[in-house]
Formats: sequence, structure tokens, C-alpha cells
Amino acid sequence: MSEPHVAILGLGIMGSGMARRLLSANFPLVVYNRNREKCTPFTNDGAVIATSPREAASRSQIILSMVADDAASRDVWLGENGALSGASSDSVLIESSTLSGEWVRELATRAIERGCRFLDAPVTGTKPHAASGELVFLVGGSAEALDTALPVLSVLGRHVFHLGPTGRGALMKLINNLVCSVQAASFAEALSLIDAGNLDRVKAVSILTGGAPGSEILKRMADRMSTRDFTPAFALRWMAKDLEYVLNDASGRGISLETATAALSVFQRAIAEGHGDEDFSAVTKSTRKDDRTHHLRRDKR
Ligand code: NAP
Repeated sequence: MSEPHVAILGLGIMGSGMARRLLSANFPLVVYNRNREKCTPFTNDGAVIATSPREAASRSQIILSMVADDAASRDVWLGENGALSGASSDSVLIESSTLSGEWVRELATRAIERGCRFLDAPVTGTKPHAASGELVFLVGGSAEALDTALPVLSVLGRHVFHLGPTGRGALMKLINNLVCSVQAASFAEALSLIDAGNLDRVKAVSILTGGAPGSEILKRMADRMSTRDFTPAFALRWMAKDLEYVLNDASGRGISLETATAALSVFQRAIAEGHGDEDFSAVTKSTRKDDRTHHLRRDKR
């Protein structure tokens, strides 16, 4: 049986790796990116370059979007010449960006109204996992749609979790990033205290990464700090975006996420200091001095 025609919408850090992976597995591929320059390298590799999401969708049976946020996803699916207007009724639409559950459910409704099948299928894993087909897909939607998409998802990922109906994949991904971001923010704060307490930074970090707090997230951040390389694999601003989405989602369910609120303020501070486009590990570069504490100390003298 021949491979289905696939469209990838969004050739950022993740989408470009996924597109290359599909090309190397000989899938007929159409790519679209808002900034056309990012499409150029794919011409030589055998991909068809679409001038709009609509054109990409009209040439494909499986249409996968991997873009920044809710606004970007709305643009590629429903904007002028959006993918939904070009998708045929036998196609499967896959939204793999990390998005709010509210938007994902709205998009699913619009897709179903058009007669298309829809999956929310965000991923865990980062740049190298996208390039090597080792992502983990967190899927919401029907089992039948997932069966049709599986030949594509299994080339891109090492594991596909089907979590239930529409929105469950999106929710699981936000919960995953809630836990990651809280660890990252707490590590950034720990570094401020390590420095303020005149502890040896290298020794202190190796105690943390080698001990009970030494999660994969902390280890990745410690590696970035030691090489001073903050080129984004996962941009800091997208981590803040995920915290905003998870906070909204939880608040809609009557749950207050206090660690997420605190972590978001740590990330927002790093963005205000100019680190938003760097890797999320650059949150460790953020200054954590509390000006209020200094004022209080001065007042006491
Ligand atoms: P990225 O490198 O910043 O790429 C973002 C993509 O979104 C680019 O293709 C960009 O197009 C496109 N885009 C932004 N706004 C748009 C708009 N209004 N209309 C159309 N396209 C728009 O981001 P990424 O790291 O690949 O992440 C993509 C998604 O995956 C995000 O939701 C992120 O949270 C999630 N994710 C990322 C990682 C990771 O490690 N990087 C891991 C898991 C999940 P232009 O090139 O034209 O700007």
C-alpha cells in the first residue's frame, strides 16, 4: 500500500524536524510555513512547497499542524486560505501544537462540521526527538481517526498514547508542561539562593542533579548552563504560554494552580529581561533579587 500524502503546516524547530523525518521515510510531503524562507531547504529534499495552508491541505490526506500557539493555529486552519477550507472530507486533521483545550475543542467542532476527522495530538520530546522520530504523542479523538493517522504518527514518534475524546491530548500535554515548568522555575530560584549564600555553583548544581531533585529537566538545564548555550530547543516564551493555558484550563474547572502561578511569574520576569526567544533553560539567567526585601532591610537600619 502506498504512503498517504501528508501536509506539515509550520516549519519551526519541531515542524521542520518532523517534515525531514517524513521525507526520509519516503512519505509524499507538502509543507507550508508563514515565513516562506523556511520552506526553501525542503525543495531540494523532494517536498512540495505550498503557498497557503489551503493548498497544502488540498493536496493531502493527513494534515498536521505544528505552530506556536492558539492564534497561530487559528490562522493556519481558519484564516484566509486556511487549511480547513482546502481539506477534503476523507482527510484526518492533526493538531500537534501545544494549545488550550478551549481552542482545540472549537477547532474540532469546525473540522467535524466540514466532515473531516480531527485529532489533538501534541507531543513530548524536543528538537532532537522530532528529528529522530522519537516523539511521544498524546492523542485525543476517535480511535478510527487515530488508526488512519497511525502510519504517520509511528514514523514521527516512539509511542502514541490514546487518552480518550477530543481535548484529552491537549490537557495531558499542558499537565506535562506544568510539572516541567515548575521544576525549571524552582531550579532558577535555587540558583539565586546558591549564589546569595556563596555556595560553589558547580558543586551545588551537581549535588542537585545527582540527587533526588535530579530530573531530566534539571539535568538538561544544568547542561545548558555549563556550555552557556541557550539557543532554543524549546523557547522560553512557549513555556510561559503553556503555563497561561494550563492556569486558564484549571480555573475553568474550579482548580487553583498555585505553583503554576508562581512559575509563570518567574518566566514572565525572564521574558521581561529579554530571554523569551532563548531556550527555556535561560530562566536560570534571570535575576532573582527581591527589591522589596532590600527596602525592608534598609528601613530597619
Ligand atoms: P517555533 O520554532 O517557534 O515555530 C513556531 C512556528 O509557528 C513557525 O513555523 C511559525 O512561523 C509559526 N507561526 C507562528 N505564528 C504564526 C501565525 N500567526 N500564522 C502562521 N504560522 C505561525 O516553535 P516550536 O518549538 O517548533 O514549537 C511549535 C509548537 O510545539 C508549540 O506549540 C510548542 O509549544 C510545541 N512544542 C515544542 C517543543 C520544543 O521542544 N520546541 C516540544 C513540544 C511541543 P514563522 O516561521 O513564519 O514565524
